[in-house]
Amino acid sequence: MPDELIPITKPFMDERDADAARRAILSGWVTQGPEVAAFEREFAAFTGATHACAVSSCTTALHLALLAVGVKPGDEVVTVSHSYIATANSIRYCGATPVFIDIERSTFNMNPDLLDRAISGRTRAILCVHQVGMPLNIEAVLRVSQEHSIPVIEDAACAIGSEILWKGQWQKIGKPHGEIACFSFHPRKVITTGDGGMLTTSSGEFDRKFRLRRQHSMSLSDTVRHSASQVKFDEYPELGYNYRMTDIQAAVGREQLKRLPEIISRRRELAARYGTLLSNVPGVTAPDEPSFARSNWQSYSVRLPDACDQIQIMQFMLVRGIATRRGIMCSHREPAYSNGEYRAASHLTESEAAQDHCIILPLFHQMTVEEQDRVVSALRAAVAFAAQPASANR
Ligand SMILES: *Cc1c(COP(=O)(O)O)cnc(C)c1O
Repeated sequence: MPDELIPITKPFMDERDADAARRAILSGWVTQGPEVAAFEREFAAFTGATHACAVSSCTTALHLALLAVGVKPGDEVVTVSHSYIATANSIRYCGATPVFIDIERSTFNMNPDLLDRAISGRTRAILCVHQVGMPLNIEAVLRVSQEHSIPVIEDAACAIGSEILWKGQWQKIGKPHGEIACFSFHPRKVITTGDGGMLTTSSGEFDRKFRLRRQHSMSLSDTVRHSASQVKFDEYPELGYNYRMTDIQAAVGREQLKRLPEIISRRRELAARYGTLLSNVPGVTAPDEPSFARSNWQSYSVRLPDACDQIQIMQFMLVRGIATRRGIMCSHREPAYSNGEYRAASHLTESEAAQDHCIILPLFHQMTVEEQDRVVSALRAAVAFAAQPASANR
C-alpha cells in the first residue's frame, strides 16, 4: 500500500465556514450586502488600510486598480513575467502593454535595479508582485516610481498577512505602501472564499471608482435603492463591470480572516522547520527571507541543483505520494504572449531559471511534522538519484 498522497495544499475550512455560509443564505440577502460590508471593514482593520473593497477575484481587482490609476490603450505597465499569468493579463485587459523585467535570484521578486531603465514615456503604472507571499523590496521600487511620478500597484494575491519592516515598524502588506494593493481568496491562497478578491487603498477617490465599476457603474447601490422611501432610477455614467463578491463568500471570508493569525504562525513554523531540514540536503537551496520581510509562506519554493532534471525529481516524488509543482511560470513563454503582446525591458534569465530549476513543496495548515519529514526524505532521495551517472538512472 503506497503512502497517502501529500497534496501541495489544502484549504483550511470546517463547520465554522459552513455555518457562516448558511447564515448568509438564510438571511435573504446574498450579494453585495451586509456581509460584504462587514468583511471589508474587518479586512481594512486587519491590514491597517483606510479603504477595502471586495470583488470577485484578484484578477478583477487588478483590472480595477489599473483602470483607477488611468491605464489606457497604448500605455505601458512595468511588471514581472515571473508571476501567475493573471498579473500580465490584467494589463492587457486595459489595452496596455506589459513591460517585463527580471527578478532577483534569492527572493523571486522584481529586481528594483532594473526598474529605472524600463520606464518610457508611455509608462502609466508599475505593477509589482509579492511573489508567493514574500514581500518585495517596495521601498526600492518607490524610490524609482516617485522620481518619475508613476503610481505603484501591489499584486498581493498571495500575501495576505505578510509583513514588511517600514520605517522601523512591522506593517501588513496591503496598508498599502504603493497606491493600491490587490488580494486573492482563491483556494490556492492562504485563506479562501472559494473565489474572491479585495482592493485596499488610502485614496477615497480610488475606492469610489472601485465601488462604482465593480457594480456596472450603476449610480445607485442595491442597498441605497432598497432602503429608499422615494422611487429612484439608476444611471450608468461610464463603462462598468460585474466584479461583485457575494455575501455567501464574504461570510466565509470573515470566518477565515479570524483564523488568519493562527494559520500564519503555523505556516511560519513549518517553513522554518523546512529550512532546518533542507540545510542537510546537499545541492538544494531553501528560500531566503530578507531582513525587512515576514512571509506568510503561501508557497515554499526550493531551488534544485542546476544539473537536476526538474520533471524527473517531481516524478520521483509523485511516485512516493508527494505532490509538487514546478517553479512559478513565466508569462512571456506562453503562447498567449507569443505575438508581441509584451515588451522585455531586461534579460529574463533569473525568471526562466526560477521556473525551470525550482519546485514548490507541500505546505498547508494541517500538515504534520511526519508528513514534512516524508517530503524532505523523498527530496533527498530524488536529488541523490538524479546525481547518479545517466547510465545508472535507467
Ligand atoms: C493567484 C494569483 C492571481 C490571481 O488571483 P485570482 O483570485 O485567481 O484571480 C494574481 N496574481 C498572482 C501573483 C497570483 O498568485
